[in-house]
Amino acid sequence: MKERKMENGLVSVDKWSEKSQAYFLTHLHADHTQGLTSTWSKGPLFCSQLTAHLFPSRFPGFNLSLLTVLDTGLWHSMRLVSPSSGSQTTLQVMPIDAHHCPGAVMFLFRGDFGCLLFTGDFRWEAECESAKTAREMLVDALKDNAVDVLYLDNTYCNPAFEFPPRLVAARQVVDIIDSHPGFDIIIGIDSLGKEDLLVHISDMLETKIWVWPERLQTMHLLGFHDIFTTRTSLTSVRAVPRYSFSIDTLNQLNTMHPTIGIMPSGLPWMVKSTKGNSNKSQLSTGTETGTEKIVRGVERCHEYMYIVPYSDHSCFSEIKEFVELVRPTSMKGIVSSSSSYVEPFYYFGGLCGERPISQNEHENKERDERVIDIQTKSFCGIHNTIQSRSMKPVGVSRVTALRRVSRGSKLAENDSSD
Ligand SMILES: [Zn+2]
Repeated sequence: MKERKMENGLVSVDKWSEKSQAYFLTHLHADHTQGLTSTWSKGPLFCSQLTAHLFPSRFPGFNLSLLTVLDTGLWHSMRLVSPSSGSQTTLQVMPIDAHHCPGAVMFLFRGDFGCLLFTGDFRWEAECESAKTAREMLVDALKDNAVDVLYLDNTYCNPAFEFPPRLVAARQVVDIIDSHPGFDIIIGIDSLGKEDLLVHISDMLETKIWVWPERLQTMHLLGFHDIFTTRTSLTSVRAVPRYSFSIDTLNQLNTMHPTIGIMPSGLPWMVKSTKGNSNKSQLSTGTETGTEKIVRGVERCHEYMYIVPYSDHSCFSEIKEFVELVRPTSMKGIVSSSSSYVEPFYYFGGLCGERPISQNEHENKERDERVIDIQTKSFCGIHNTIQSRSMKPVGVSRVTALRRVSRGSKLAENDSSD
């Protein structure tokens, strides 16, 4: 049987160096936009509505006519040209909320190449009410589509990484702050993400939260106008860039005022053995074992430092549940720099194979699906005229083919980690 796969040069996901006809951005974390600049002109860029809303603040001067919003839960159809044969081919894509950071989506692709699911970074919290919609979208889409290759966020694809839902971890953070009256609190965050945690803290403790000026701008774009401030006199809780967060900093702060640091992360933060040189104590994400201890759960890893397992990535059991739901023919991890990198196939190979499709689902394959047609003059030329956010559904396509043959598909590898 001839293996069918997506050709190189058709689309790229979170990859900006190669030549493709359409580029897809899962979310705005820096490790997914490396190579993307304000002067980008390689081709059309597709993303979620919220990512597009935030985009100009990250890439000022970007040619916004290249940016196209794709609504979640809907199939969007675009015509591309096969680089090898020169013939026209139709690709359909559905974004699905990834519950990672604001605007983050997965992309489900289907076409002559088969069906591919690219998760980007994602958190799959089964009990989370807000994740139910994404689950329903995915389940509905999978009724008619067997995923050939799953490109999976494998950041924590190791049984050692188990952590609670984010709301539970958020309560743990509030408890820590509550138990330190009179202390200043600093919390390490990225330039995007963990807003829900900060809002929870603000609600529970009835306090504003300090953020740095660029972060305040992002908060305003996200619609948070009253909770955050850049005035230190208004609050003792400060969210600071994660990279500026260190035990040295905490030691210095404590010479002026009692201060604790809270790092919300599912990452395997480790305290390096300092062998009596406590002044050089530091946190790292090193991979060595023996002299280092993997910290899980809430851990007071230093006199002034707490690690709370609040993560925007799925823990191992959530990844497993996701793979059980998708049942791809094969899979590949997208994070190769993870400190515990193991190909997810090692753990979940037994879950791969043809997903059984019920008789009821066979009948459903003839149902109508709404597909938004993205009008383009040409995706392979330099000029592209793509209808943007105002585009309306212009066509209804009937899904008639249910691909059941075993095959492989290939997308450009992603080297993201977060
Ligand atoms: Zn990310």
